[in-house]
Amino acid sequence: MTRIYNFSAGPSMLPEVVLQQAQQELLDWRGSGMSVMEMSHRGKQFMSIAAELEADLRALMTIPENYRVLFLQGGASAQFSLIPQNILGNKTKACYVKTGAWSKKAIKDAKPYCEAIISASSKHSHFTTIPNSATWEVDPQAAYLHYTSNETIHGVEFDSIPDAKGLPLVCDMSSNILSRPVDVSQFGLIYAGSQKNMGAAGVTVVIVREDLLGQCSKTVPPVFNYEEQANNQSMLNTPTTYSWYLMGLVFKWLQTQGGLAAIEQRNIAKSAKLYQAIDVSSLYRNSVEIASRSRMNVPFILTNEALETDFLIAAEAAGLNELKGHRLLGGMRASIYNAMPESGVEALIAFMQEFERTH
Ligand SMILES: *Cc1c(COP(=O)(O)O)cnc(C)c1O
Repeated sequence: MTRIYNFSAGPSMLPEVVLQQAQQELLDWRGSGMSVMEMSHRGKQFMSIAAELEADLRALMTIPENYRVLFLQGGASAQFSLIPQNILGNKTKACYVKTGAWSKKAIKDAKPYCEAIISASSKHSHFTTIPNSATWEVDPQAAYLHYTSNETIHGVEFDSIPDAKGLPLVCDMSSNILSRPVDVSQFGLIYAGSQKNMGAAGVTVVIVREDLLGQCSKTVPPVFNYEEQANNQSMLNTPTTYSWYLMGLVFKWLQTQGGLAAIEQRNIAKSAKLYQAIDVSSLYRNSVEIASRSRMNVPFILTNEALETDFLIAAEAAGLNELKGHRLLGGMRASIYNAMPESGVEALIAFMQEFERTH
């Protein structure tokens, strides 16, 4: 068996030990005589998996008690529409910071439900910068301020939590959740899909401050009503049980890695190496402002565009896959989430240097 280094933006690599444990437990989960896939979500075995899942996430992120943790379906994309419907209450406006493709989508999908005010935008720099939060225009009448902590496509990331000027801060953390410690108490709501940094596709984590619940629009289906799901352990309907289980294994793996502070150090080291290799070369270029560069998604172009196809073919032959950039931007993109080992980044750098030398 040969495993590749998979640089996909999501679904993406999982830690090998997690896959091995899932394989080991596939037919018989800890003496239960059945696979997690076959378990009733109301049975005692799965209830224990669910309880540990939440407890481990709370411990990893130090989630305060006045926050509820939901495990939903629909992806981060569904939350774009569901957040305004759940937390606007009797307000009619919400503030958004536009820093790339994903925040644009969040804004577009919120518009049927509220007046979406653009508090700041980095469109002028082609989304290669993060607008300084001192300049943001925040409407005090708005229900919340939304931003995207890591723009998966454009490769820009907030290096700190912005000042929401008194509004509840809402964050799409899909592509950098669990990559570094964050102070959850500064947020009203955090949401993230599972398939980038937390596991297989199929689960959407919503971490929401209790006081924001209880104002959901009556037209929202109950399975998408945050309060109803909070009151029913996210089991108003059958959850994606196997994805919950895999996510739980990833949380345990993160604990063995030393938690988020330790994983952050590894992420800093991995991304710094890759950017350094790009910056010293004359064939590769990343145009994101240095302070706003993502530790998770590293887009780069080949200054000689004609070499792109050759680059991708040779990379795959070397076991380095999914480097083709997003169709919006073209070029290349290396996604290096928590589960990408340092050896994968080193193999990519060595390949890039060799390719440059021979072309
Ligand atoms: C991938 C991604 C999404 C969309 O996730 P889905 O699970 O496909 O809905 C939203 N926001 C960000 C920042 C992403 O990276």
